[in-house]
Amino acid sequence: MRVLLAEDDRLISQALITALRKSGYAVDHASNGTEADTVLLCQQYDLLILDLGLPRMSGIEVLKHLRARKNTMPVLVLTAQDGIEDRVRGLDAGADDYLTKPFALPELFARIRALTRRGTGNPTRIEVGTLSYDQSERLARLNGEIVELSARELALLEILLLRAGRLVAKDQLVDQLCSWGEEVSNNAIEVYIHRLRKKLEPGGARITTVRGLGYFLEKPADKPDGKG
Ligand code: CA
Repeated sequence: MRVLLAEDDRLISQALITALRKSGYAVDHASNGTEADTVLLCQQYDLLILDLGLPRMSGIEVLKHLRARKNTMPVLVLTAQDGIEDRVRGLDAGADDYLTKPFALPELFARIRALTRRGTGNPTRIEVGTLSYDQSERLARLNGEIVELSARELALLEILLLRAGRLVAKDQLVDQLCSWGEEVSNNAIEVYIHRLRKKLEPGGARITTVRGLGYFLEKPADKPDGKG
């Protein structure tokens, strides 16, 4: 899951970025409205967390521009405690939900899960052969047993699962996993894939390498039924 955080408060930003990354989200950060507006022109995210009180261009303007481009990306607006009018303006401008500062992280994560479920319109549970993944719980199970995965491994597996049976280019994985200021190299992807395989293959889930191109998670249902 890719998230853009548009927030100018340094302490709040740092806390949110750390918490989101720990939970396996790839986070990009914009510290003013113009920067957020520019990034949103060329990048698609699974969620935008938008502070309304941004310098250079207000959060409301950023949101209006986004919706004017018919972009339906889920948007969670962050507002000041006494900003009832802001909240109303935010929702009127096309925000999907709002949180009032200060907020507790578990509440933020609950809202994110609800919004990203709504946003993708996908089932929260994906099953591929012996492997199942619950997007709201962020838990992978192999033959019903929970698989212990690091945040990065989980993020990688999520991408492969969402496109099970289809090739995912290595560059695409690098792109989806990496966040600004935090490089994920091609070599690192190989290491994560290696670790995932060690954990998944004994349970019958296979990640296939297409040399020079990328990887795909084998989808048993896609195999032709014919024998031999
Ligand atoms: Ca602010």
